[in-house]
Amino acid sequence: MKINLILFGPPGSGKGTQAQNLAEKYNLLHISTGDMFREELKAETPLGLEAKSYMDNGHLVPDSVTIGMLNHRVEVNPDVDGFIFDGFPRTIPQCEALDALLASKGQSISKLIMLVVDEDEIVKRLQKRAMVSGRSDDADENVIRNRFQVYRDQTTPVYDYYATDGRSTKIEGVGNIEDIFATLSAEVDQLV
Ligand code: AMP
Repeated sequence: MKINLILFGPPGSGKGTQAQNLAEKYNLLHISTGDMFREELKAETPLGLEAKSYMDNGHLVPDSVTIGMLNHRVEVNPDVDGFIFDGFPRTIPQCEALDALLASKGQSISKLIMLVVDEDEIVKRLQKRAMVSGRSDDADENVIRNRFQVYRDQTTPVYDYYATDGRSTKIEGVGNIEDIFATLSAEVDQLV
């Protein structure tokens, strides 16, 4: 059976790092919509240029654009053991689109795991990350707070969406990276 995970949490909660490590350990394909948008932007594709203004302000790229891009990435990778989604889904329509896409392949989301980190810790982490990531959306405190508010208003319902049938779970996202990885691995091991 394939494992399909959603690694969930606010911007700066460590999803990217942990998703990469989990992908390696469980042989899953890591899909980060944020990374995909940044690659498109770097290559100056029409999709990247369309996403730019939203990203610069910390707003969500419209669902139609995001869902189309995600569907394509899943479709061109039919032979993987499963996916780990990072930064997607961020809205209820994205959840519905993802469920429909996986259902069309006889698959489903196995589990959503949330990394819990509070807002002040996020602001500190992202400002520090800005120095190495070069991401303009990490450098500006107003943009960071905006991203956190978008997360609270538009994205937290995603947790509840998968909680209705018990697929959502939360773990502490503050602490040592290896310890958090061990806790995540224990959650995934329950599925294997
Ligand atoms: P991230 O790297 O996940 O923090 O994403 C960076 C930016 O890309 C976000 O602030 C959004 O503008 C955009 N983005 C990434 N994933 C999504 C998504 N699932 N839905 C809408 N916008 C997204």
